[in-house]
Amino acid sequence: MTLPCFSVNRARAVVVASAICTLLTVATANAAPAPISLTVDASEAPSTSIVHVRETIPATPGTLDLAYPRWVPGEHSPAGPVQNMAAPVFTSGNTTLAWTRDPLDVNEFHVTVPPGVSSVDATFDYLGSKDGTYGEARLATATILAINWNQFLLYPAHADIGTTLFTPAIVLPGADWFAGTALPGPVKTGNTIAFGTTSLERLVDSPLDAGSVNKQFMLLDKDGFTNEIDAFADRPSQLELDDKNLAKFKNIPPEMDAIYGARHWTHYHFLLTVSDVMPGNGVEHTSSSDDGAGGDALTDDKAIVGTAGLLSHEFNHSWDGKYRRPADLATTNFQVPEGTDLLWIYEGMTQFYGDLVPTRAGFGTPERFRDDMAVVYANLDHEPGRLVRSLSDDAASAPFLYSAPRTLSSRRRSAGDFYSEGELLWLDVDAQLMAMSKGTKSLDGFCKTFFGIANTPPEVNPYTYDQFVAALNRYAPYNWDAYFKFKVFSVTEHPPSPFEKLGWKLVYTDKQSDVEAMRSTRSHGFEANFSLGTSGTADGRLGDVIPGSPAAKAGLGLGDQIVAVDDREFSADELLTEMKADVKSGQPLRLIVKRAGIFRTVTVAYHDGPKYPHLVRIDGVPDTLAVILAPHRAGASAK
Ligand SMILES: [Zn+2]
Repeated sequence: MTLPCFSVNRARAVVVASAICTLLTVATANAAPAPISLTVDASEAPSTSIVHVRETIPATPGTLDLAYPRWVPGEHSPAGPVQNMAAPVFTSGNTTLAWTRDPLDVNEFHVTVPPGVSSVDATFDYLGSKDGTYGEARLATATILAINWNQFLLYPAHADIGTTLFTPAIVLPGADWFAGTALPGPVKTGNTIAFGTTSLERLVDSPLDAGSVNKQFMLLDKDGFTNEIDAFADRPSQLELDDKNLAKFKNIPPEMDAIYGARHWTHYHFLLTVSDVMPGNGVEHTSSSDDGAGGDALTDDKAIVGTAGLLSHEFNHSWDGKYRRPADLATTNFQVPEGTDLLWIYEGMTQFYGDLVPTRAGFGTPERFRDDMAVVYANLDHEPGRLVRSLSDDAASAPFLYSAPRTLSSRRRSAGDFYSEGELLWLDVDAQLMAMSKGTKSLDGFCKTFFGIANTPPEVNPYTYDQFVAALNRYAPYNWDAYFKFKVFSVTEHPPSPFEKLGWKLVYTDKQSDVEAMRSTRSHGFEANFSLGTSGTADGRLGDVIPGSPAAKAGLGLGDQIVAVDDREFSADELLTEMKADVKSGQPLRLIVKRAGIFRTVTVAYHDGPKYPHLVRIDGVPDTLAVILAPHRAGASAK
């Protein structure tokens, strides 16, 4: 068992020297109470969506304060689903104990412990939800179980999660179900798996997926390190990953090695559900990730590129997010609010590498990466919300943005912005590093010094903004503080634009790239953000209307449904056809629009046709982007 080296809270957000860290661990370990015994009985979850939880918690007479986790690492918001926790009962022997819920903190319970009692038994039911918030709807199907331990436990309120110990066990739906997890010490007896004693921090950092239809794909097994995909599906045919694509997945670990040069895991598990029934997901953990994709995720060539992106993104967090973590996200307790304002580093840089690594590993072409970046830039550059709120403010708003409506997000800004604008930012930083060093320094080089450092067991090494900037200045001296103050902390007219430094420029044409066409197909809607200034569903319901755009000037708004275009029934294709026709005819676009049962005619004065973003080469400027996108793993050759 490896306990996390240390954690910090907001008040002690300072990097502690490793010698002091060791002392802290020893001192607190001596004072640690006996482990909490936890049994998560998910045996009937596939049929009832209910999980039964039993705990035995050491206690002393008086009041025992217990908490249901609210701030779950990796979710960046107070999303612990307390509403699904039902029927709590606290007992000691045959005696039922009185309890109250804290009126000001509904996740906290006060249990009255009588004299002579040294432990409390707690039971509750977890009620699965089909329509919950992020990740919450993932629990069980007929063949898959997805366990995030934070949903199935109470722990002593105010306790340090790094030193609070649990001895967990899971009861599976069947003895023939296979379970994948990074939790240490599993012993399976029938349909029950008992694990060794571990810290609460490590427990919640080690989700478990199980299933009756499963397959393991070993990506790495060398020098004591292993990395595998534990895949769980609705049916066996969904797990028929071919050798060609398996070989590409095997390129992901060495591509990560090429960036970081060291690892903070010994045995890494991608816990991947491949299902048309279980909702998707993507949550990072130090030695595993909770990944969910569609039923074609391992068998359809186009979907596999997305799967590689999902896995690469979550894997990258093992270094950037889990090992090196902004100090305000490295809390000692799941009830303490997280400060999310540095997610433009944590998520932004991970978004960059989550797209870059699959390209280097051979899943996507450089053209696809360029098309992706063009769309990312264009979307942000058509977002009025950027003109009043900085990237830093967007990241700080994460706790409410993840659950915000997607409609009107161009004005609100969205959680997606610190991923996508962050991605452009880190491509720009990479371009800057390469330009000022004539190619001898790069973002990869910095990552080795800051996120890689040296092999370690799973542990948290927190940082502040000032420490991050100082490290970047040590690696490559530049006025990085001023750079970030301008691009991240200020409101800027345009998103970071790395393209010209890399030998490319952005243009708009009337041809959709494959990336955009695929997005439109997957979203089952239409995208005319860069032309009319609106987008919506396949049946014409508008999700966003960009202020100042032709659509907005014509009076279109959220709640409108376009039912006809130039007297023809609305469809995404019909809208495109008429927009192109109007370029030649000079006629405005005439729409019949339905709103709350009332029809009206709207005339949009727009004659420029469809517009889609692309990157094109700048003659005479070296193609540095090609250097960034080329394979970097040992032994690979650039094409
Ligand atoms: Zn992420």
